[in-house]
Amino acid sequence: MCGIFGIFGVPHAEKYAFYGIYALQHRGHESVGIAVSDFENIKLVRKAGLVLSAVKREDLEGVSGSLAIAHVRYATAGRSGGFNAQPFLKRTIIGDVAVAHNGNLVNFKSLKEELLSQGESFDYDSDTELFLSLLGKGREVPEGIVLHPEDEEILPYVFYALSRIKGAYSVLFLLKDRLIAVRDPYGFRPLLMGRLKNAILFASESCAFDILGAELWREVKPGELVVVDRKGIRSYLFSQSQRKAMCIFEFVYFSKPESFIFNDWVYGIRKRMGEVLALEDDVPADVVVPVPDSGIVPAIGYAQKRGIPLELGLIRNHYVGRSFIEPTQELRDIKVLMKLNPNPYVLKDKRVVVTDDSLVRGTTSKKIVSMLRRAGAKEVHMRIASPPVISPCYYGIDTPTKEELIATKFSVEEIAKFIGVDSLKYLSLEGLRGCVEDYKQFCDACFSNEYPLEFKPEVERIREHS
Ligand code: SF4
Repeated sequence: MCGIFGIFGVPHAEKYAFYGIYALQHRGHESVGIAVSDFENIKLVRKAGLVLSAVKREDLEGVSGSLAIAHVRYATAGRSGGFNAQPFLKRTIIGDVAVAHNGNLVNFKSLKEELLSQGESFDYDSDTELFLSLLGKGREVPEGIVLHPEDEEILPYVFYALSRIKGAYSVLFLLKDRLIAVRDPYGFRPLLMGRLKNAILFASESCAFDILGAELWREVKPGELVVVDRKGIRSYLFSQSQRKAMCIFEFVYFSKPESFIFNDWVYGIRKRMGEVLALEDDVPADVVVPVPDSGIVPAIGYAQKRGIPLELGLIRNHYVGRSFIEPTQELRDIKVLMKLNPNPYVLKDKRVVVTDDSLVRGTTSKKIVSMLRRAGAKEVHMRIASPPVISPCYYGIDTPTKEELIATKFSVEEIAKFIGVDSLKYLSLEGLRGCVEDYKQFCDACFSNEYPLEFKPEVERIREHS
């Protein structure tokens, strides 16, 4: 999971990129980077840590330009920390190119081996470098595409690189005089376009436009490549796969509720998940308590549908990051205790329905339940606004390996016992699918084990944390 942001056509683009990527901080906590061009040179800032604390004012002095891309990261492939902070920058056959990527490439290993055998060297150990390493290895113009004269030199190299890559990618390329945005033919990850006066913006989620006062324009379509330069905006549909595979987990957990992605509002879909969960449930209860933050919106839908009051029985400390994306179990454990506090005023002697967005390992839920009981809850019924996670993700979300997924080893009753609740219920897969416009255009493999056919993973996920 990562966040990407790009902007073309504004003085001090690096500062817009700073705020734009800050608005996407929830998509990655490990590192941040900004690449900026003044039409002559590309300059780079890459840091480990959170945007606000890692990037200092002086880091952006002397790196001013009119076009920029930015990235926040947590690792799904390659080492974590600052070493693999994006954007990556490389000298290529089409000049210096910086790249920022959200996704995961399923043929990373075989492509890297092929390139190594040809004498190519790699500066990083993340799959994203392939986008740069493949530039110059061949030229291709997809059938039916007529290139604008401005693009004849550069795009055939880009299209060749894309033709070799398989997997999930929403990606931004920064050249010294242009910005190129691409979304894979299946559209796994979101990528939006915005406008701010004469400037064009790209972002993983629309919330990045709000902070800058920019307007949401449209989505980059699955299989679309968009070029922005001084001559204007040009769009090429390089692949028109009928089957789309937009990641339904973006609606469940990752995207912010105020964002617009995949042609829909996250808030609306997430609330519907709670409503459908309520329709599938009849447990007697006095109060609905959400696990903040991502359990809140489904809790509203659930509580409204069932006519049970919603109360804040768990209070979040906002100065700690999200626990799900911390790289080690120890850090996750500490963070759960740091970030949530029970509210006895709401909980004492109550039959509590506690809602969360998903249940992955079960360790966080177990701690939350014991917190609720210590605060006096009489009964605790956990309701999960998504189905059991039964399969790992190969497309860019850091769900754990199959062995770590609690639902692969235990029944619902056993999980309920493990986390210490009186009852446990998940949203059904059919219920989840009914929440989106056309579920066949979505990937829900981590809930259904039905991986999009053409994306059979060639290797187990590569993930080493330093
Ligand atoms: S497997 Fe799950 S997390 Fe991964 S892309 Fe599909 S729906 Fe999203």
